[in-house]
Amino acid sequence: MKDLDLLFKSLQKSDFRSSFKLKGKELEYLNSKGLDTILEHGRDFIEKRLAPANPPNDGRQTPMRNHPVFIAQHATATCCRGCLEKWHGITAGDHELSEEEKDYIILVLQIWLRNFIKI
Ligand SMILES: [Zn+2]
Repeated sequence: MKDLDLLFKSLQKSDFRSSFKLKGKELEYLNSKGLDTILEHGRDFIEKRLAPANPPNDGRQTPMRNHPVFIAQHATATCCRGCLEKWHGITAGDHELSEEEKDYIILVLQIWLRNFIKI
């Protein structure tokens, strides 16, 4: 798990990661449901798609659209265990995610998503 300031600076330097923005129906969905509810969905996705030691189809388990959390995952490199290892130092293929690691991922998603909350 990384220092979050350094992490977000590195993400900004990646053309691929920084190309993800929330717009259209995912942006509307975030603002109509609110951040807390969206992050509850995120917790569920993490539990099912990332937490197992060897998730099925790793690298392809996170769609590119249809939920704000999916976009946030690609933007923050929390989309698969391979990216979690490369970007966040959470090793792949050897353990189920701990509660601490899941909380860290939720925090990263929260930091990214809150930029798109219109108040
Ligand atoms: Zn990935």
